[in-house]
Amino acid sequence: MSQSDYSLVLPAFTIGAQAYDAIGRITTHFGKKVVIIGGKTALSKAKPSLLPACEKAGLTITDILWYGGDATYENADVLLHNPAVAQADLVFGVGGGRAIDTCKVVADKAGKAFFAFPTVASNCAPSTSIAVMYKVDKSFAGYYYLQQPPVHTFINMAIIADSPYTLFWAGIGDAMSKECESELASRTAEKFHTVLLGRAIAKICSEPLLTYGEKALADFKQKEVTYELQQVVLDIIISTGLVSNCTTAPDQSYYYNSSIAHLFYNSSTVLPQVVEGHLHGEIVSFGVLVLLTYDKQFALRDTVADFYKKTGYPTTLADLDIKADEIDAVIEKAPSLTEWNCVPQPLTKAAFKQAILDTDTFGKAL
Ligand SMILES: [Zn+2]
Repeated sequence: MSQSDYSLVLPAFTIGAQAYDAIGRITTHFGKKVVIIGGKTALSKAKPSLLPACEKAGLTITDILWYGGDATYENADVLLHNPAVAQADLVFGVGGGRAIDTCKVVADKAGKAFFAFPTVASNCAPSTSIAVMYKVDKSFAGYYYLQQPPVHTFINMAIIADSPYTLFWAGIGDAMSKECESELASRTAEKFHTVLLGRAIAKICSEPLLTYGEKALADFKQKEVTYELQQVVLDIIISTGLVSNCTTAPDQSYYYNSSIAHLFYNSSTVLPQVVEGHLHGEIVSFGVLVLLTYDKQFALRDTVADFYKKTGYPTTLADLDIKADEIDAVIEKAPSLTEWNCVPQPLTKAAFKQAILDTDTFGKAL
């Protein structure tokens, strides 16, 4: 980045079983009229605590709207034409990644202050300044870059602990990629302040998952809000989001936010049985093993694989329903993806294929 003038806005958050109690204090300088937009299930789960919290905070609700069902520009446009959005000072986005990303685009285009209310802990969408957009046919439409992340993220642990287990489990798998991917992608990059900050924060992304992950998953199953569960939720939603904001340039002049793990995920989308039968974070978790194999980080790979075996993450291609003769189609897709270039040395198809096959051999031997 060559310019000397720039802003870095980092995410802020409130977490806990009573997180919504902070709404009044946090939103006070942004206005009094709020539009609440979210997923249907998410809204039904959040409303019993969110609506009284809004009332206590002296906020007037212009309307409560469904986001449309997917993160598309079409859904964002429908919302932008809704008078309840125009009348509001604040936008509250409630739900999972796709609902929150749609609301981020709406708030950004409408010039409103945006606050995120995640109801699942499966990704860092509630704390990043990037929205992952899809086309109406469900295919990837690209990234939308916002000027800044949500003003604040309210993580209600009681609601998170009541969300689907598999989404949380997959969220851990996705978060496992952040440290090794951002480190590899930025290893030979120019070491200026924002990237150094991102690399430093990335160092605290994997360890809490390896230390607390197994206990957090067990607690989640019991719907018990514990210290370990909260540490892992913070890892998935906040730590990875902080790294994302530091490793993705708003002007797109650099991108160190993902690497070989997401390269594996994005290339594997050419195989329908993989994307239809497995969650994003589950596929990415195997991609983490591919990255560690490619980068010859074998000691860390042993530690991660040990955690995977105890908690049900994939360690072989068969675990993802990928047959050996389908690998070439995955490899062919890879060079067209952003992550192909997120490595210190130029990647080759042969090296990527070898890393995948070696990971499979390693996984089969566990
Ligand atoms: Zn991901």
